[in-house]
Amino acid sequence: MIITIDGPSGVGKSTVSKAVAEKTGCIYLDTGAMYRAIALKTAIMGVDIQNGAELLRMLEGTSVGFRKNPDGSLSVLLDGEDVAGRIRTPAISRLSSDVATKKPVREKLVSIQREAGRMGSIVAEGRDMGTFVFPDADFKFYLTATTEERARRRWAQLRESGKEADLPEVEKELVRRDRQDSERAESPLHPSPNAVIIDTTNLLTDEVISKIISAVQG
Ligand code: C5P
Repeated sequence: MIITIDGPSGVGKSTVSKAVAEKTGCIYLDTGAMYRAIALKTAIMGVDIQNGAELLRMLEGTSVGFRKNPDGSLSVLLDGEDVAGRIRTPAISRLSSDVATKKPVREKLVSIQREAGRMGSIVAEGRDMGTFVFPDADFKFYLTATTEERARRRWAQLRESGKEADLPEVEKELVRRDRQDSERAESPLHPSPNAVIIDTTNLLTDEVISKIISAVQG
């Protein structure tokens, strides 16, 4: 079984997807973490991502893999190393959206994502899971919320994890990333025509999870 959960930044996809995976016994695949891992690598190596040859050379020497955790989730490994603790910064958020516009980056990651889809039942979370990576998924969901609400959630998340954050700045970055993610040529963010769209603006996380679980379990 493949369940796809797509939507813009800050909509709460990760929390929801993780819970849905747990409740349905699926593996949870966080594809945003894969783009973030590639962004981290370009930052570490100082790669100019506008230079196609340089980017390709870096991609050829880069491995993105997974480690299956006891709770069923997958940790993303960059060149064999768990980089989870280093990819949730505003700088990497911005850079991940930049690298995600590049075709060779997407080609490399999409093939790894499809491979993960053959490992067993999965909940795949991202921007193009239902539209491009798994067009024949069993269940497709697209989460939305107003920009203000998404910015507020992202801001609260940053503060909870002990990071200083300025709400107007968080909102500005979110709008920038949304625009780039929805306007890029390669697999732009938009709902799949056969996805169930859930506006989460006025819903509690548990209510969103329940809606998805009821749809999946009939
Ligand atoms: O979901 P998350 O915020 O971690 O994703 C980081 C960035 O990776 C997004 O802004 C988007 O540009 C890119 N991404 C993507 N396709 C996906 C998942 C993420 O382009 N399936």
